[in-house]
Amino acid sequence: MKDREEIPYKMIQLIRGFKDILPGETELWRHIEKVAASLFEDFGFKEIRIPVMEKTELFARSIGEDTDIVEKEMYTFPDRKGDLITLRPEATASIVRSYIQHKLYASDPVRKFYTIGPMFRRERPQKGRYRQFYQINAEVFGVGSAYIDAQLIFMLMNLFSRLSVTDTEAHINSLGCPVCRPNFRTAISEFLSSKTDALCADCQRRSSRNPLRVLDCKVPTCREAVTDAPSVLEHLCPECAEHFDILKTSLKNLDVPFVTDKRLVRGLDYYTRTTFEIQTGSLGAQNAVAGGGRYDGLVKTLGGPDIPAIGFAIGFDRLTEITGLKASDFEQKPDVFIAALGEKSQSKALEWACALNMQGIKAETAFGDSSLKSQMKRADKLAAPYVLIVGDKELEEGAVLLRNMATKEQVSVPLDNIVETLKANSLK
Ligand code: ATP
Ligand code: MG
Repeated sequence: MKDREEIPYKMIQLIRGFKDILPGETELWRHIEKVAASLFEDFGFKEIRIPVMEKTELFARSIGEDTDIVEKEMYTFPDRKGDLITLRPEATASIVRSYIQHKLYASDPVRKFYTIGPMFRRERPQKGRYRQFYQINAEVFGVGSAYIDAQLIFMLMNLFSRLSVTDTEAHINSLGCPVCRPNFRTAISEFLSSKTDALCADCQRRSSRNPLRVLDCKVPTCREAVTDAPSVLEHLCPECAEHFDILKTSLKNLDVPFVTDKRLVRGLDYYTRTTFEIQTGSLGAQNAVAGGGRYDGLVKTLGGPDIPAIGFAIGFDRLTEITGLKASDFEQKPDVFIAALGEKSQSKALEWACALNMQGIKAETAFGDSSLKSQMKRADKLAAPYVLIVGDKELEEGAVLLRNMATKEQVSVPLDNIVETLKANSLK
């Protein structure tokens, strides 16, 4: 034992790329969650909660083998029996799995879900990029119309304005469908074959296997190389072109400003037709605050019926950085501080604090033998607007002092029904 005592304990720090969200920050996070949930529910969305781990195969099959996420960002490991499992890098695949597994389409294929929670990607940590980060997701199943695409983008942009986010821009594009995408793919392949030397090693490999991915590469030389790449919009089949036109007209009718961005392909393979990203000028390099799109083939690919779907994911961490709201706007302060002097008063303070707390009044007390002065200091520090002062003398006389910290006025309050008196005394 002695040896052990002599070894100084080493402080254990959190894992690189992970972070704590502390009191002082959580108030803002919770406010955003509430605003999002309430807005989404007004649009008919229901909350779904899915596990943070899934079989690796689910992500490999849905997100796609040649994507950054599956190639190099997933936390994948064998469990004790050797089955490969992965900490979810995104939520859509799990929601689709759940929709299929529980046959949620059986009674009504049209379902709208939202979920909020942590995602895990082993990326290089930097500002706005973490290894555990949070997303707010919304997904709609069973509607193939471009009108719902417009409604979803409308809802997303309105969430941003409710959260006082300015400086955002909706970028939209279409990725076509299995009918027209092969033509685009061929055009991109041909274009890329003249650019091989300018591409990074990943993109050189991708340009034959999955050439669209090259458009999404973040390496500056690759971005440069694809500036004049052919546009998918020139290769859309009539149905996909009409879908995209309806989306644009609907967004205009809904007064949602947008830009068409032919380079937007996004980092997941399952997208078809509409894709979109919300970009902001306020985040530096990590400028995407939300992304989404239509994934009409995914339910079928994962073993379900042929049901279209569309969804988006908001980067919650990045959202907290660009909202005009501050955590301090939501900080909770005590309504009253009970300064108790002496054993008997402290015991009474416990009773009153509990009774007040139970009635929704935030009462704090010190539970200690400190002087009145230091208790008043603490009340000040906590920014309590009222202090209830109680000592043996007050207990004997059956009345305590209630001090208004702003006006410095003190009134004597009878001990009977102190809770009611406090409640009536403009506390709540
Ligand atoms: P990026 O282009 O920034 O890598 P992405 O295309 O990989 O983003 P999506 O998979 O579309 O991101 O996820 C949706 C949103 O989640 C992004 O727009 C972003 O705001 C946020 N996000 C993605 N990865 C991270 C991360 N590692 N840390 C914090 N937020 C992230
Ligand atoms: Mg990424």
